[in-house]
Amino acid sequence: MKKLTRRNFTKALGKGLVATTLINPAYSTFGQTRVAQKRLGVALVGLGSYSTHQLGPSLLATEHCYLAGVVTGTKEKELIWKDAYGLSDDCVYTYENFDTILDNAKIDIVYVVLPNSMHADFCIRAAKAGKHVICEKPMAISVLECEAIINACQQNNVKLGVGYRMQSDPYTKEVKKYVREKTFGAVTFVSSDAAYISKGNPNQWRLNKALSGGGALMNMGVYSIQTSIYGTGSNPISVSAQEFSTRPAYFKNTDETITAQFEFANGEVGHMMTSHNANGNKLKVSCEKGWFELDPAHSYGPISGRTSKGKEIKFRHQSQQALQMDDFSKHILWDSKNVAPGEMGKRDMIIVEAIYKSIAKNGQKQLLDLGNMGIVI
Ligand code: NAD
Repeated sequence: MKKLTRRNFTKALGKGLVATTLINPAYSTFGQTRVAQKRLGVALVGLGSYSTHQLGPSLLATEHCYLAGVVTGTKEKELIWKDAYGLSDDCVYTYENFDTILDNAKIDIVYVVLPNSMHADFCIRAAKAGKHVICEKPMAISVLECEAIINACQQNNVKLGVGYRMQSDPYTKEVKKYVREKTFGAVTFVSSDAAYISKGNPNQWRLNKALSGGGALMNMGVYSIQTSIYGTGSNPISVSAQEFSTRPAYFKNTDETITAQFEFANGEVGHMMTSHNANGNKLKVSCEKGWFELDPAHSYGPISGRTSKGKEIKFRHQSQQALQMDDFSKHILWDSKNVAPGEMGKRDMIIVEAIYKSIAKNGQKQLLDLGNMGIVI
């Protein structure tokens, strides 16, 4: 990996590899005086695709945090990342010596970017080491694991965020505003698709239930669950679901395509589709007096949206990951709102488990009693 400097990061931006955010020095201006701020050190655990192509580069664009360390099981990656990001030897860990991160004052946040079944173990170990935790989506592979992560963070007095980058995206905030302010009247129906066609290595961890916890639903379905909820502003009160399998030789023990229908407390209904064997990336919300939609709705951006008023929803493209990590840092530094708290990840896993239960019971409606759990306005 070439050393990432502001110059070649900007070049990468031009190629659309990473998104735009001004790289700010660690200063802010209060009146005429420039005041130095603390920037938080982030250690990425797991240097796979998402860390390499999104999180690492985005940490060059963040204002309130920076890449301070890495945890990897691959010797060659240690050298590559040290060189690319100028990391010192004492900030590079293996999975085995990870717990000694406790003694490293340069690391404030541990960001777990491992296969889903490994999230709980590393998040809990990070909390026990006294580090704030960001856990990638899906938060874990069961509700019980989500609870164990939340408890560990509470007991060790550290903050917890889920890697739900869309919660920091301006398009999501706009959708939430339309719902909150009833810009198009009350919501009546929400529809959300999050899917892609998987054709790669059949032995990848995403197709291995022990490592992924499930297939399309665990991987992409959580986006549809998220958009259905911020598209209505409330949690579902029931879900019914169906599973479809057309390539069982490839999808041996993980779900290929799932559809689900939601009912919400105020009478809204919803439909979601998630798949590892179809393309889908949108949110459409019908309201009493119009509609709005995002298409694409869940990708790294630019997101695109429009409304029944003939109006494009348009925002300057920024790195969602940089916004997300800055939002979490501000939550730690100044107790600002946690836009993706652990209970949001747990709530989504409750819905995931209800969907799998409905499928196991031939589509039987499962009642959900979530109240406002995980709703962040
Ligand atoms: P990846 O396969 O590219 O990387 C996984 C990393 O885990 C690799 O560095 C690998 O060496 C390491 N690893 C350690 N033990 C492993 C094991 N037993 N089997 C396989 N890999 C092992 O995966 P990724 O795409 O980087 O995804 C990692 C996490 O990030 C997942 O939870 C995924 O859902 C999440 N993710 C989130 C987004 C998002 O937009 N928020 C996008 C991509 C991935």
